[in-house]
Amino acid sequence: MLVAGVDVGSVATKVAVIDGDKTYCRLAPTGWSPRDAGLRTFRELMAELGVSEKQVDFVVGTGYGRISLSFVHKAVTEITCHARGAAHMVPGSAAVIDVGGQDSKVIKIDHRGRVLDFIMNDKCAAGTGRFLQVTAAALGADVSELADLAWGKKPVNLSSMCAVFAESEVIGLLAAGKDKGEIVAGLHRSIARRIASMVQRLGPVDRITFTGGVARNEDLRLCLEAELGAEVVVPEQCQMAGAVGAALIARDQVEGKAQWLS
Ligand code: ADP
Repeated sequence: MLVAGVDVGSVATKVAVIDGDKTYCRLAPTGWSPRDAGLRTFRELMAELGVSEKQVDFVVGTGYGRISLSFVHKAVTEITCHARGAAHMVPGSAAVIDVGGQDSKVIKIDHRGRVLDFIMNDKCAAGTGRFLQVTAAALGADVSELADLAWGKKPVNLSSMCAVFAESEVIGLLAAGKDKGEIVAGLHRSIARRIASMVQRLGPVDRITFTGGVARNEDLRLCLEAELGAEVVVPEQCQMAGAVGAALIARDQVEGKAQWLS
């Protein structure tokens, strides 16, 4: 049986294919057309695996661009897919923090990865991947360099966590001679505080899994642990959690185990 999950995110499109006990993944920038990015990335992975689209038994689409995907059999919300993917990647997870390009969400889950409760912030850009990209650019750095910059640095206090004002505040701090690393450490601490307050609104949880592209930032993971007083685990394929969850849901559909979805 071959099943696939296609997660069209605001920044990156992720595709996962499950073939027996093997999972294959591909990631590409979404660009301006979610529809094209979804289809193109799916086809690229098919070509890489040497299989035809017709051989895939079921495809689940997720992410903000899921409604534009005409080739998927079913569209499922990213909350459900991330929960399923994270529970699979880190068995025993009780909660998931997912921070992607334009939203952040915290999800309380059961042992099978079913959603018990969630809080999503998609109204405010502060603390999202794009916000970090813009701030990194203001510091003349790439988003992948932020963790190293902040490593072991004393965080500055930031007065504003509004995405609109943070960039100009960062520029002001640089002009005042503040160390880049201390500015980034301050940003990470502020972001971690915001996310931790979302987690706390869901009640006490431990065994927290951190997913999404932003979870690749190790310093932010450490800040989250400090704010939450709990272990925060980042799976190796953290950015693929939604796509893998979608593929697992596709497999459930084929196996007739998907009643709990509806
Ligand atoms: P979406 O699903 O909305 O497209 P993703 O979960 O794919 O979002 O995450 C995209 C974000 O991940 C980017 O905006 C960027 O900030 C962050 N990111 C990507 N690669 C790295 C990295 N190596 N280190 C830190 N952050 C990263």
